[in-house]
Amino acid sequence: MTTLDDFRARTREWLAVNCPPGARGPGQIPIGSRSLSLDADTRLWLERMAERGWTVPTWPRQYGGAELDNAHYRVLIEELTRINARPPLTGRGVNYIGPTILELGTDDQKARWLPGIARGEGAWAMGYSEPGAGSDLASLTTRAERSGDTWRINGRKTWTSDAHYCDYIFVLARTSPGARKHDGISLLLVDMHQPGVQVHPIRLLSGASPFNETVFVDAIASAGDLIGGEGNGWTVGKRLLQFERSTHAGINISGSQGGRSEASRLPERIARYVPLVDGRLQDAAVRTSLIQHQQAEHAQRLTQARAIEELKARAPGFTSSAVKLTGALLQQQGDELLQTAMGTSGLGVEGDDFSSEETDQLRGWLYRKSLTIAGGTKEIQLNIIAKRVLGLPD
Ligand SMILES: Cc1cc2nc3c(=O)[nH]c(=O)nc-3n(C[C@H](O)[C@H](O)[C@H](O)COP(=O)(O)OP(=O)(O)OC[C@H]3O[C@@H](n4cnc5c(N)ncnc54)[C@H](O)[C@@H]3O)c2cc1C
Repeated sequence: MTTLDDFRARTREWLAVNCPPGARGPGQIPIGSRSLSLDADTRLWLERMAERGWTVPTWPRQYGGAELDNAHYRVLIEELTRINARPPLTGRGVNYIGPTILELGTDDQKARWLPGIARGEGAWAMGYSEPGAGSDLASLTTRAERSGDTWRINGRKTWTSDAHYCDYIFVLARTSPGARKHDGISLLLVDMHQPGVQVHPIRLLSGASPFNETVFVDAIASAGDLIGGEGNGWTVGKRLLQFERSTHAGINISGSQGGRSEASRLPERIARYVPLVDGRLQDAAVRTSLIQHQQAEHAQRLTQARAIEELKARAPGFTSSAVKLTGALLQQQGDELLQTAMGTSGLGVEGDDFSSEETDQLRGWLYRKSLTIAGGTKEIQLNIIAKRVLGLPD
């Protein structure tokens, strides 16, 4: 491994030449689904990064990675962030199921799934929650019955984000109905392009449909696509949840998303609504809240960096619950601050009286209320921290 300075210099040089203009800017590239066509720059960026193993920089080379250690990984992320390059790959393939297979899959499963995930082939949905099983996930009732070389799946999943354009779904299903609640569950990989998988959009008040109900009617999964052993789904599924939470927390080092945490543009946005006097926000209360928020954001970034440095595996254990929760609360606090500063300008859903940035902010403020629900609610994270980190009694 080269010295970090060397690596930084060579990375900077390579990125300057190879990251096309269309792959730079805010936001993320929606990637992976067979049904999404990519523009030329995005396609090129993805191919070039995949060739270097930088779509999954810490994964082994044989599965499409570059085997970077944590320190080199951080340098790569810093250099990507410096030129405002969009992460070439993010999502449930690279960040959730990929590292789970890497850790708990068989050699055959790794060879079958990981190289494709590293190249961004196929988008993944998450089939965990059910109408009667959210926080109490082990109450799930979706069933999978073995039939020769396949599993036949029947049941109903809900809140499956993006399922309407995903190609695959990882599903927690009950494979031994007679077993105790937390036993007899298995994690299965399912191709969504089959008649037995039906996706029904759930329309939100805003009119958008990012969620779906996903119904399985005799859907088929191959026997070889059960991850981590039959009946071990509770353990495997919880590990995947740690990968999910560490992604939300910005400390998942599988893809190029985790750790990519930038300072928010909050001060500049607030200054548009609260008058400045001598370069300072005139409203002392807003000024104090903003400074406290910036301090907390800085502390969050330092905590993320430390968590990544201390990683021994690709996902931290219970740290992910704490950093996910503080990150979500911080984003919500920033939203409240901005909404207060905006006054009535922050209350527009649509219409000529509001700029697109204002209506986006209102929608974002409402959407980000879900950050303390998705991936396990705030109360569930607090329970995990109390029991697993602080050792408090049940
Ligand atoms: C944006 C978003 C995206 C999502 N995407 C997906 C997805 O792709 N796939 C998927 O499978 N799921 C997804 N979910 C579902 C998500 O995992 C669940 O909403 C979440 O786990 C909570 O479950 P629930 O909605 O059934 O609420 P419930 O479990 O019914 O909880 C209701 C309330 O009771 C509280 N509560 C429950 N149990 C306890 C307890 N033991 N102690 C203290 N308080 C408790 C909760 O904190 C909550 O406030 C998504 C959710 C959101 C918001």
